[in-house]
Amino acid sequence: MSLAILSLRLAEERDVLLARQRSRSLAALLGFENQDQVRIATAVSEVARHAFGAGDGGAVEFFLEGRSAPQLFSVRVVGALDEPGTQEGSLDPSAPAPGRAAGLAGARRLMDAFEVERSSHASAFVLRKLLPAQSRVFAAPDVELVRAQLMHETLADPIGELQRQNQELLGTLDELRRRQAELVELNHELEDTNRGVVALYAELDDRSMHLQRADDLKRRFLSNMSHEFRTPLHSVVALARLLFERVDGPLSAEQEKQVRYIDQSARALLDLVDDLLDIAKVEAGRVDVRPVEFDVADVFGALRGMLRPLLINDRLQLVFEEAPAHLRLFTDEGKVSQILRNLIANALKFTPSGEVRVSAALASGDDGVERAIFRVTDTGIGIAREDLGRIFEEFEQVDGPVQRGVRGTGLGLPLSRKLATLLGGTLTVSSAVDIGSTFTLTVPSRFEVEDRGIETAPFELDDSRPPVLLVEDDPVDRLLVEKHLRSTPFQVVSAQNLREARRWMTRFVPSAFLLDVELRGEDSWAFLAEIKRDPATRHCLVILVTRSDDEPKARSLGADAFLQKPFGADELVRELSRCLPVLRNAHGDS
Ligand code: ADP
Repeated sequence: MSLAILSLRLAEERDVLLARQRSRSLAALLGFENQDQVRIATAVSEVARHAFGAGDGGAVEFFLEGRSAPQLFSVRVVGALDEPGTQEGSLDPSAPAPGRAAGLAGARRLMDAFEVERSSHASAFVLRKLLPAQSRVFAAPDVELVRAQLMHETLADPIGELQRQNQELLGTLDELRRRQAELVELNHELEDTNRGVVALYAELDDRSMHLQRADDLKRRFLSNMSHEFRTPLHSVVALARLLFERVDGPLSAEQEKQVRYIDQSARALLDLVDDLLDIAKVEAGRVDVRPVEFDVADVFGALRGMLRPLLINDRLQLVFEEAPAHLRLFTDEGKVSQILRNLIANALKFTPSGEVRVSAALASGDDGVERAIFRVTDTGIGIAREDLGRIFEEFEQVDGPVQRGVRGTGLGLPLSRKLATLLGGTLTVSSAVDIGSTFTLTVPSRFEVEDRGIETAPFELDDSRPPVLLVEDDPVDRLLVEKHLRSTPFQVVSAQNLREARRWMTRFVPSAFLLDVELRGEDSWAFLAEIKRDPATRHCLVILVTRSDDEPKARSLGADAFLQKPFGADELVRELSRCLPVLRNAHGDS
């Protein structure tokens, strides 16, 4: 809905001035602030001048659009507006437009909306600006009042209007200067803040360096002292055992009690030192992950046997849920077992009655990585919400009656979490006091073995020497083979694991494989079958190297030869030479 306020004819030059005056007054009556009044007046006068200049006069109509806030103040300027330069495209404020068109583009910038209406005989520009938020809503009677006020206004002559425009210009310049000053002030403030931030960063760097140094010192101290402590403690435990065994004569009952105390204290101290040493080693990055293929069910079986002696309370059950069939992982079995052992031992310690339940499951994450999820759930004393974070910090224990009656160092959980991180996994807890706790260990089901240096290793294949791909994880054995073959016709390319071997195989087809069977749990047998199945490698000589006696199995999978460690250079070269006639034939064929 729109309410017409006023209409003006553009019959002579003066009317353009009148349109300007009226639009400014109207803008003021409708509640626009001073700057907006100037903007509207300038835009309307610019468009009106354009309409008038195009010939045949024209008209300016003012009206209000909308019934609810915010209403729109609309000005429609009608006239023969279609001279070149008034096409809609040329109103783009960013487009360079000379003369009047530039004025129109400026007018567009001053308003909220600017529209061109065209018909066969006339065109109109419609300029719109939203009334300020604080303006009231104008209905027909209000518009009537506005109109009456407008009629009482005395209009300035052209000179007066020019003076007024000059004042407006001066006002606008003042406003610009004020904003400029504000900007300069803001810039200064920003510079000061920047300087402050830079200084703070420098201080932070300084502190982080100090912290790092302190951390290094702590690590070195822990690692060195743990070693120093261990030796005498081992002696104390060994001596206590000697006394128990009465090697040097009988013990009285009292002496036996005292020796038992010595033994218990020494062992408790040894536990502490062991944990400290483990933590120091993990932190110093001196712990290697040794991934192997293993069945979770086997780990559960071993843990069951190991932890049974801790079950001295017949109101408490230790339940291992059956692991999903064929839940096989390729990660560090020892570390997974160490973490679970610690979680279960804790659960048994802090559960006076009920059960401790251990389970395992497999899940695929959003990132496509398959992970094993181990849960150790107990019906024990639980941990208060505010203590959940700190139990993973070194030496932190939650005080309470149960705590006072059990052995512990406060290092098990921090160590377990560090080990879990080392395996690429996480260790988390959820718990409720007097209800119980659940510790969740999540580890990728296949540990990513780093490909150390394969891409960067400088490697030039010597075409005159048949390449032998040695797949061997033991560095000493690798060195031996490399030494044995140094001055022979064969060139050795070594891989520490099957992944590396496969990478090499993308670069060349070996004349022979020397394949170690005991590759830290990796399936060398399946790899052997794969070589003999693949038409690209089927003809390659495969020599299995092992410490055990698995020759029949090796032969049935297609191995060409079998070498039992330790073997000499002669034996190795003799076996490898069997591939030479094949090679000669292959070259002869080509
Ligand atoms: P500790 O050698 O004392 O067991 P941990 O680091 O393994 O050291 O555990 C830290 C503390 O976390 C424990 O002393 C105990 O207060 C709390 N805690 C650990 N596991 C449980 C559990 N299953 N139930 C209740 N409290 C637990």
